[in-house]
Amino acid sequence: MIRTFVGIPLPGAVVRDLTAAQAGLPAGRAVAPENFHLTLAFIGEHPEPVIEDLHLALDRITGAGFQVSLAGAGLFGNKRPRVLYAGVRSGPELGRLREKVVQAARGAEIPLARERYTPHVTLARLNSGLSPEDAAELRDFAARRAGFSTAPFRIEGFALFRSTLGRNGAIYEALAKYPLDK
Ligand code: ATP
Ligand code: MG
Repeated sequence: MIRTFVGIPLPGAVVRDLTAAQAGLPAGRAVAPENFHLTLAFIGEHPEPVIEDLHLALDRITGAGFQVSLAGAGLFGNKRPRVLYAGVRSGPELGRLREKVVQAARGAEIPLARERYTPHVTLARLNSGLSPEDAAELRDFAARRAGFSTAPFRIEGFALFRSTLGRNGAIYEALAKYPLDK
């Protein structure tokens, strides 16, 4: 079984901005710079032949590149925050690309959870045992990062990532890359 997700790698300048935004993080595990990404769809664990079908379907996706920027910060999980994230500012193209990826997954007979898609870049992951004090400090931290933003940048493609969960967090490896504008 291979655990995968479809995501967009980020340009170096954006990675530097995200790293700067993590400074002073009061609790939780900061995402390593090489791991920053914008998830298009979490695929989950599937046998290799299913992932090969997914790859072929992803490879058939066409479309033009487009601009987005990152802006704002927040926490997923209100009482029990699980993720500190940077927000994404985009036009309709990002949602359309996500929809193409969802259709590609369907074509490979991978049913995806029908949940709302909230584009974001994870800055830090928070343990379930977070104390109320740490949670309060994180809310303050997120509030101080409300003005976070990056310059607009161009999404030129996306990738299929293998995610290997480990004691020191997940290790991601791009299995295939799919350029837009091809
Ligand atoms: P860990 O789970 O050890 O904290 P991780 O979340 O980085 O590590 P994965 O769980 O493999 O690694 O997730 C890969 C990507 O998919 C991450 O961007 C994660 O936020 C996203 N993701 C994981 N599970 C889901 C889910 N159920 N729904 C939406 N996105 C998910
Ligand atoms: Mg996870």
